[in-house]
Amino acid sequence: MYYPFSWLKSCTKLALYLLSFGLVGWYVEAVWLLLLLGVSILLATSYWHIYKLNQWLWYSRKMSPPAVTGVWEHIYEGIYHLQRRNRKKRKELGRLVKRFREGSEALPDAVVVVDANACIVWCNRLARLDLGLKWPNDAGRRLDNLIRHPAFIEYFHADNFDHPIEVPSPTNPNKTFEYRIMPYGEEHLLLIARDITRVSQLEGMRKDFVANVSHELRTPLTVINGYLEILPVDREANPMMGKAFDEMTAQTQRMQNLIEDLLVLSRIEASSERIYEHVVDMPTMLQQLEREAQTLNKDKGHAIVFHIDPSLKVYGVETELRSACSNLVFNAVHYTPTGGNINIYWTSTPAGASFKVTDNGDGISQNHLVRLTERFYRVDKARSRKTGGSGLGLSIVKHVLSHHNSQLEIHSEVSKGSQFSFVLDRELMVQS
Ligand code: ADP
Repeated sequence: MYYPFSWLKSCTKLALYLLSFGLVGWYVEAVWLLLLLGVSILLATSYWHIYKLNQWLWYSRKMSPPAVTGVWEHIYEGIYHLQRRNRKKRKELGRLVKRFREGSEALPDAVVVVDANACIVWCNRLARLDLGLKWPNDAGRRLDNLIRHPAFIEYFHADNFDHPIEVPSPTNPNKTFEYRIMPYGEEHLLLIARDITRVSQLEGMRKDFVANVSHELRTPLTVINGYLEILPVDREANPMMGKAFDEMTAQTQRMQNLIEDLLVLSRIEASSERIYEHVVDMPTMLQQLEREAQTLNKDKGHAIVFHIDPSLKVYGVETELRSACSNLVFNAVHYTPTGGNINIYWTSTPAGASFKVTDNGDGISQNHLVRLTERFYRVDKARSRKTGGSGLGLSIVKHVLSHHNSQLEIHSEVSKGSQFSFVLDRELMVQS
């Protein structure tokens, strides 16, 4: 119960108390002596109450305060009220922590909470099972001392948690985990490890399947193409047969292009080549590409101009970068109506090495742009087929750039033209 404290009441009580001693003193003619006695008794009772308060606060097992009256009752009630409020808050907090832990235990992923010093604060049951953590023994130990995979250590120390990483399980090498780290609160980190064994197995099977099928189809197609080239056809006597042969040759050529592109894509997807190991002489490679583009341009009549920084070399995988650049240049040649202007730029910018292809062709409407790098996505299927396109060109570009930590930027306006570009990070530029 709350008793409002009244100064007036307390002061009146004190005054009456001293007055009664004063009156008695006046009666026995020893006012000062009686007043001194009154003050001494007051002091002694106050000390006694302080002693009892101390005993109650530190040594008593009882929650409820001892029965007292006056100002001291007020003080005891105040402390008791504060204690009860704290207890209630602690209980609420405990319930909240319990609910959070129950929720985290119910998650299908392993969860570890790490503090600003990379020490484990808490982990759920799956973290103990899948990551081999021991609880509570590992509480307070550094996470990077317990999960020792080099890829994880590099990821953990890089302090860049934009993307998750895939790492074999520390307890079972046949399992693959996706580690995702999320910073929160006061420099705390939340590690979530998800078992993606099945997904990565399926992805591996899909890649193998595409690579194997493409490889197996290549040989029979080469044989068919070879025979089509050497079979004698009397076009004069049988014009229909001549047309059929031309169509068969064009279609087998298209299939060969498609298979070649599928194989390139599979190779890039499976590539584990390190991009920092080899220097790519981009100026020389682009000069060669210029000659190829001019050959392709014979009956198109475009004005193709290459603006190349002759000293700008980069680290990367040459075959992949050649494939990406040639796809962008050849697309511009294919999809720009006769007599267009095509410019290719390879320059150094503050952001890094920039490659850009611009054309003044028909352009692409905005609704197609987001899907352009999907496999087999074409804006105009019939036209793409005519150019011999497989629909895999931009998909290859996307994969190559992702391997080189970059991405394809596409700007296009219908009936004005398109711009395809990418920037390779300054870290990949070779200092000359
Ligand atoms: P394809 O092998 O059919 O050329 P890509 O993946 O290289 O496939 O390109 C996908 C589609 O993007 C093409 O079918 C084409 O419609 C469109 N495209 C690509 N480059 C250009 C460009 N420079 N101008 C206009 N359209 C383009």
